[in-house]
Amino acid sequence: MAEMMLRKTTATLVASVYSDFIRQYSSVFQLADAPLEDVRALLKPLGIAGRARLMVDAAEAIVLRYDGEVPADADELRSLPGVGTYTARAVQCFAFGKEVALVDTNVIRILRRALGIHGRRARAHTDPDVWAAADSLLPLRGVREYNLGLLDLGAMTCTANSPACQECPLSTMCVTYSCSDGLLRGRSVPAQILS
Ligand code: SF4
Repeated sequence: MAEMMLRKTTATLVASVYSDFIRQYSSVFQLADAPLEDVRALLKPLGIAGRARLMVDAAEAIVLRYDGEVPADADELRSLPGVGTYTARAVQCFAFGKEVALVDTNVIRILRRALGIHGRRARAHTDPDVWAAADSLLPLRGVREYNLGLLDLGAMTCTANSPACQECPLSTMCVTYSCSDGLLRGRSVPAQILS
């Protein structure tokens, strides 16, 4: 449910309501039985009240199809209302410790800038080749920490408009930074290089 809330919101915003949400719906059975309007009211401060329907439907599906146990299989997860590839993989990684990569907008930006990996689709997160490339980069151990580190790096260091390359742990291997190094050391990387 946290992953469903985090789509197009921020972790800070989600944190402000998450405790209340979990207190009120501490099991998938409670959420499946919840009045929709109550769930909508809890999610309203995040601007995602409309997502309440999907969350209650997903909880109902977990109760009806899986006896209240969240499935670990990717296809079964993706069959739930409101669950796409990213959410399914996030659950697999963080809840079940599976070794799968996570690719969101921020991670795609890092893959593109640091390694020159470009998706063939305009929306790169829908390109299976990008997911496969991300999977091939996973470390042998510590996949959970690796995924969290990349997500944080994209959110805080390799940002869209002002990447902090000189503080970035990938700077020595980053294609974009090495292209700009020498010419731009100490200055921000211009937009045409980052595109
Ligand atoms: S060195 Fe700069 S452009 Fe490269 S991954 Fe790090 S922050 Fe992004």
